[in-house]
Amino acid sequence: MPRIKSLLTTVEIGIVKKGHNCQGNATHRLQKGDRRMEVKNERSWDYYCLDCGVRILQRDAEKIKATLALITAGEVNSVEGAEPI
Ligand SMILES: [Zn+2]
Repeated sequence: MPRIKSLLTTVEIGIVKKGHNCQGNATHRLQKGDRRMEVKNERSWDYYCLDCGVRILQRDAEKIKATLALITAGEVNSVEGAEPI
């Protein structure tokens, strides 16, 4: 396995070509022409509405901030892994 140089996978903001449900919450419907967050997942892509996208990004940003804070504070601890949206 290659050494990890980034914790983030490939993420893009794209345009919906054909209506579909958000993969974060099936009750969120994306319509043709909406913007969406596209996340590379192995050889495929997952598509999220921007509300879910913002939640995912904010949660990850908090996790990164908390991890940086541990380093800065000279502490030893763990930062919780991802939880469902
Ligand atoms: Zn959603």
